[in-house]
Amino acid sequence: MDRRRFLSASAASAMLAGCATAQPPLALARPARPCLPRVNVSEERVIRTVAGLRPYRAGGFVVRAEPLGDKLLVHNYGHGGGGITLSWGTARLAADLGLPGTEGPVAVLGAGIVGLTTARLAQDRGRPVTIYAAALPPDTTSNIAGGQIVPASVFERDAVDAAWRAQFDAACAYSWRRWQLLVGADTGVRWLPTYDASTGPIGSPAMAQFHAGREIIAAADSPFGRPVARFQTMYVEVGRFLRLLTAEFLGAGGRIAVRRFATPAEIVGLPERTVFNCTGLGSHELFGDTDLVPKRGQLAVLLPQPEIDYAYTLGGYMFPRADGILLGGTWERDEWDAVTTPDAIAGIMALHRRINARDCPT
Ligand SMILES: Cc1cc2nc3c(=O)[nH]c(=O)nc-3n(C[C@H](O)[C@H](O)[C@H](O)COP(=O)(O)OP(=O)(O)OC[C@H]3O[C@@H](n4cnc5c(N)ncnc54)[C@H](O)[C@@H]3O)c2cc1C
Repeated sequence: MDRRRFLSASAASAMLAGCATAQPPLALARPARPCLPRVNVSEERVIRTVAGLRPYRAGGFVVRAEPLGDKLLVHNYGHGGGGITLSWGTARLAADLGLPGTEGPVAVLGAGIVGLTTARLAQDRGRPVTIYAAALPPDTTSNIAGGQIVPASVFERDAVDAAWRAQFDAACAYSWRRWQLLVGADTGVRWLPTYDASTGPIGSPAMAQFHAGREIIAAADSPFGRPVARFQTMYVEVGRFLRLLTAEFLGAGGRIAVRRFATPAEIVGLPERTVFNCTGLGSHELFGDTDLVPKRGQLAVLLPQPEIDYAYTLGGYMFPRADGILLGGTWERDEWDAVTTPDAIAGIMALHRRINARDCPT
């Protein structure tokens, strides 16, 4: 069976679900290209709109240790649009910097995905941990994330050096393995085929691993009527996963204190001698990192459509999750308010209506 016929066959059931109207009888239906079930992009199906601020640095995330008073302070922040993806990986880099050669209780500042994964790895290495955070899930940026396991919009090529690249490669490798171990109905982590507008070569092997089984599909064979890359990666239902991580953290004896730090001097007053800074965008103000800026992302979330068993990133992105269909597509640099704007949401809806207005040729 050649690839084209395989694609047609594997999409047959999807065709029936998504293109049931005005189709000829099955025996006559012989599509020129596969047809995927369509997302129903209509205003009545919008269950919420949300916005979050990606903590972006052109020079990439910061994982670095330095003294702070009598403490060892380990930074782990600035993951841009890839913090869910890279969380386990940079948590491990940070743990390797902060835990060997120190002992006793550990403080983690921040309760987003980066703080929680860092805290869990410190617990795994036998350390008592207290998380101090101004806000807890579900009120973190991490809760807004789409949850695709691809490190998108994390750095600018010209702004990073070889040493940072080595950190990035190590973080990618560990994260990719760790997320695979977490796939399951209990965690809300699953594999999905993904259709992507970028059909050129992928920049590095570290990035390429997140595009498993990647193949380029010509326009004539593409469900979107345009050339696309198709690959497999994982998707996390982030809210569920953060609840699970929090429960595991508490179950392992962790403590959580709601507290906002205004200055590093306040951190010096903590009882713990080893402190991990996982405050995300909060590090702009707390540590004066002016290279750290927001890239606002707005989302329209639609009622779930269980038959949508693929994702796409075609200018805007669509990630289907059990808690809703996420439609996104804005990266607004230097916008500091985590609010949605009617124009952007209207633009997102219009874009995804166009993408899903595709016809299924017979
Ligand atoms: C719309 C959107 C879609 C995204 N999609 C994806 C995706 O598909 N895949 C992906 O990998 N990533 C995605 N991201 C990026 C991802 O959400 C972030 O990179 C990630 O959430 C950063 O996690 P964090 O733990 O560093 O920050 P946060 O989740 O912001 O957590 C920071 C924590 O620090 C605390 N804090 C901050 N300042 C202080 C202070 N002064 N004192 C005490 N506590 C403080 C906060 O209260 C919070 O608890 C997306 C982001 C957005 C906005």
